[in-house]
Amino acid sequence: MSPEELKQHIRQITVWRRGEQRAPHKPLLLLYALGRCLNNGERLLPYGEVDRELRPLLIEYGPERKSCHTEYPFQRLTNDGIWELQHSAKLETRVGNSDVKKSELLKHNVAGGFTEEVFETLRSHPALISELAMEILNQHFPQTFYADLLDAVGLEIQFEQTLRRRRDPAFRERVLMAYQYRCAVCGYDLRLGSVQVALEAAHIKWHQAGGPDLETNGLALCSMHHKLFDRGAFTLTDELQLCVSQKANGSTGLSEWLTSFHGLPLKGPQSRDNLPLNEHLDWHRKEVFHGPGRTSVRLS
Ligand SMILES: [Zn+2]
Repeated sequence: MSPEELKQHIRQITVWRRGEQRAPHKPLLLLYALGRCLNNGERLLPYGEVDRELRPLLIEYGPERKSCHTEYPFQRLTNDGIWELQHSAKLETRVGNSDVKKSELLKHNVAGGFTEEVFETLRSHPALISELAMEILNQHFPQTFYADLLDAVGLEIQFEQTLRRRRDPAFRERVLMAYQYRCAVCGYDLRLGSVQVALEAAHIKWHQAGGPDLETNGLALCSMHHKLFDRGAFTLTDELQLCVSQKANGSTGLSEWLTSFHGLPLKGPQSRDNLPLNEHLDWHRKEVFHGPGRTSVRLS
């Protein structure tokens, strides 16, 4: 398989979506497997290890869900032509679908990994691992995730140089102007000379999930609040009150950056025309926010 063909395969992996729901299972497993391939030269990974190490990634970088299924991407990636399972026993599938139960994968020590053809391509083109990781990040996660996620899977990439241009470069400028060049949470507006530093335009509904480059889907946020918003440490109610997650904790910084704003109104845009749309806020609450929210603020 040529590097170009492999990139094509990675772009076309089918990500399960029901309506607007995020399903980062396959992208996260691929990033994890690329990290293992780069660092240890491993192709086949025992399911027990994958379960133990992928689970925290799904919990931290995936949407809030009742249960966490590492066994789904581990098996379903085989349908995308780049992954295979290795086992000696006949595996019992679940009633009603073709997935093998998690207990079966563990009992029979099933291993999974890139096919030999894919693995050979990765080994003979060392730069390809970084390119594929960037491709996956670009397609599925906002930029505020990149450094932490790459670190979590052990991939060292200088990604700043490889970032793609935004589809609409004017989005940042329009959003910052709408919010009078200050953070909509804390009011931060520091300049170095005449240049604004560490103030960013955030998408409420991610670009990767089809969120539009419009002011009504944007917020001007300082770098810290941008990251905390994308990671789901806080969200907004339909009335534009800030709601902080009960899972946010810590001693230094928690009050200064988060809980002191809980229940306060957003420092909204100058024009009512640019107020965030409820449909985008609703997506953020369901797919990004790590609920439940702290008390005294009603989320819906
Ligand atoms: Zn801020």
